[in-house]
Amino acid sequence: MSVDRVRDRLVLLGSKGGPALRPGGPWPSSSLLELGGRTIVVDCGLGVTRGLVDAGINLKTLDLIFITHLHSDHVLELGPLIHTAWTAGLANQVSVYGPSGTADYWRHFCQAMEFDIDIRIVDEGRPDIRELVSVAEFGEGAVLEESGLKVTALRVDHPPVTDCFALRFEHDGKSVVFSSDTAFFPPLADFARGADILVHEAMLEQGIERLVVRTANGARLREHLLASHSFAEEAGRIASDAGVKRLVLNHLIPADDPEIGEADWIAAVRKTWSGDLTIARDGLVVGLEHDPEKWEPVFGKDHA
Ligand SMILES: [Zn+2]
Ligand SMILES: [Zn+2]
Repeated sequence: MSVDRVRDRLVLLGSKGGPALRPGGPWPSSSLLELGGRTIVVDCGLGVTRGLVDAGINLKTLDLIFITHLHSDHVLELGPLIHTAWTAGLANQVSVYGPSGTADYWRHFCQAMEFDIDIRIVDEGRPDIRELVSVAEFGEGAVLEESGLKVTALRVDHPPVTDCFALRFEHDGKSVVFSSDTAFFPPLADFARGADILVHEAMLEQGIERLVVRTANGARLREHLLASHSFAEEAGRIASDAGVKRLVLNHLIPADDPEIGEADWIAAVRKTWSGDLTIARDGLVVGLEHDPEKWEPVFGKDHA
């Protein structure tokens, strides 16, 4: 393999579902997709900036950011990520794609940070961050087609949020699909048809009750989870129906219950999915080579 060869990979930066943080536990939702030479960030939950830096990304090269929906565990750190990249010397345009409301979020973030932004422009001679960022709001269908990279969106089932989108990234015959947050949603199988990787959210039935007990508004939480998210078995069914090459269970609920281990996730999803499987952990790298001999996780444990 030549040194300048572009290496496509997916890095799961934050693998838990929901906004809560617990000691030593995983971070909320964010992923890095390096595909066709592009650096693509999918969702910006808390921890995304640290995750990108730890994955070896130079923040100055920040390029494309996609937000699947405006729940805080997917968007809370969007502004801080771009701002941190800006103070690191961001020189190129950053394109942010998100649902309706994303432009408002960005405008208000810049307002909230106005003192710091204005003072750094004067004091450090930085370009105006507001001019370095373009925000495009998307709906269902084609989102972006640029230099061989094609991105499409499918509205999924995540009540009460209506603007919540699965995303499909394609380049040079490779494809990666993110389910975003969704209840079991059969049309996702068509959308994810034949993908190299399907990153699907998942929860585990036996973990939900314990989660509900230790949370203040437990009954409401249970109601929300059941109406708006998928069980691991359901994620496996989508992967099987879609005929994807690898299923990655992500946005895990619960993600930090000491009683729940990887074996529990594997046991649940194996009822409906017999193919290649990865249970997400923060920092886990999944390679995207077609040739199985060239497929190699850089670090972390993989479940073939
Ligand atoms: Zn979420
Ligand atoms: Zn959500």
